[in-house]
Amino acid sequence: SIITLADEARYAFDNLLEGVLGGPSTLRLGVTGLSRAGKTVFITALVHNLIHGGRLPLFDAYASGRLAGAKLQPQPDDAVPRFDYESHVRNLVDARIWPRSTRRISELRVTLEYESASTWKRTFGPGRLDLDIVDYPGEWLLDLALLNKSYGEWSAEAVAMSREPHRQQLAAEWHHRLQGVDPDAPADELKAQELAGAFTSYLRAARADEYALSMLPPGRFLMPGDLEGSPALTFSPLDIAPDREPVQDSLAAMMARRYESYRTHVVKPFFRNHFARLDRQIVLVDMLAALNAGPAALRDLEQALADVLACFRPGRASWLTSILSRRIDKILFAATKADHVHRSDHDNLGALLARLTEKAAKRAEFAGAEVSVMPMAAVRATREVTVTRGGRKLPAIAGVPLEGEEVAGEVYDGASEIALFPGDLPKDPESIFEAARQFQSKPRDLAEEAHDDTLALRYLRFRPPRVERSETGLKLSLPHIRLDQALQFLVGDRLQ
Ligand code: GDP
Repeated sequence: SIITLADEARYAFDNLLEGVLGGPSTLRLGVTGLSRAGKTVFITALVHNLIHGGRLPLFDAYASGRLAGAKLQPQPDDAVPRFDYESHVRNLVDARIWPRSTRRISELRVTLEYESASTWKRTFGPGRLDLDIVDYPGEWLLDLALLNKSYGEWSAEAVAMSREPHRQQLAAEWHHRLQGVDPDAPADELKAQELAGAFTSYLRAARADEYALSMLPPGRFLMPGDLEGSPALTFSPLDIAPDREPVQDSLAAMMARRYESYRTHVVKPFFRNHFARLDRQIVLVDMLAALNAGPAALRDLEQALADVLACFRPGRASWLTSILSRRIDKILFAATKADHVHRSDHDNLGALLARLTEKAAKRAEFAGAEVSVMPMAAVRATREVTVTRGGRKLPAIAGVPLEGEEVAGEVYDGASEIALFPGDLPKDPESIFEAARQFQSKPRDLAEEAHDDTLALRYLRFRPPRVERSETGLKLSLPHIRLDQALQFLVGDRLQ
């Protein structure tokens, strides 16, 4: 019919224009990272800086004055929750408290209007890029590996992992309950709940600051989203051989069925409906938390990052490849909360993360994605100061600890600023695991000899800063470290 023809002509024309002008005008940016890595703070600060004219000298389109405007628009997907930007800004900027962290997937569209840098492109009028930011828990990415494992294989692996020295104690209660069950006994809902509960508690304990472990699938056990309490999440590994066929109607059979449901109704839909549509990706990593927790946490993080990268560059035979309609072409790993260390340590922070992602990143680059690593603080909550100690001047940072934070027996009121020397990050990324050992003990040593000007970094959280004036002095936005560089890498080329 005429309508179809007209439509097709229009599509062809659009495609032609897009080809000429450089790709479609929508960019879906995935923002991920394990819990507390800084996703919510990153998105809030990014959007706030764009809308309120923050200091972004290294974001080219913006610094050169070509960015005509940035505004929030209704998102294209009606079935995905909206990222609660306004409420996060109220907390972060107005109340100066940290916003509520990511619990599930959410989305926000920011539309950027720009003048092209090329004279020829400008003759087509101003450009427009719809930036769709998709926030989702990094834990969910680690579930991809489950698609290659039967229930028996996964069980055996999870039980073996939980018996490793640094996990054993955390899993003691779950182990105790596992010993008391017979996998061949008839299926029993209460038993299933009890085991799932103990298994989840173990995963949660391993994620706590003290241990900061990363490899803790299934992802929804820690980040259930809207599935909390559903049968698809009420299962647990059993202490069985990997190739064991479950007896009919037994507890093992019930667990295996639920594991299967989890893979079919939870894991696959996430990858199909959300993940497969992403163009670019930023992975936020809290390196300092892992360093603080020690070598076991770092090793776990390295494995988790490799698994995350495997999602971005799945092999040809993988299920994921078969459903991907596009490929992620740029991946940024950002070591977050860089404001917790002095500027002289930022490069080291980046180098340590680069070392952890090295092997996996090589594979991704091989497959055609551009991978970059940088230190970043989406919100800079500290300032740099010099502390004199024993006649020596040391680079230190100063900030207001959150109300109730406690270091070396002192509880803070959330109002007074303190200076502290976080301890040097190791210079040599090769010795990263040894370094974690040193870094781990260092702040404590300092605390022991501490006067009131120097305190331990461990777990200290600072109050969010006041907004600051932009270069022109007219606008107010949040201070940051290298947020502009991250933006340039992730969207800069699309605003040419
Ligand atoms: P999410 O779980 O990935 O969404 O993590 P959040 O964005 O909620 O961040 C978790 C916590 O890390 C926050 O409550 C802050 O205490 C801290 N945080 C995150 N980003 C920054 C940052 O850029 N600077 C500082 N100082 N703290 C941060």
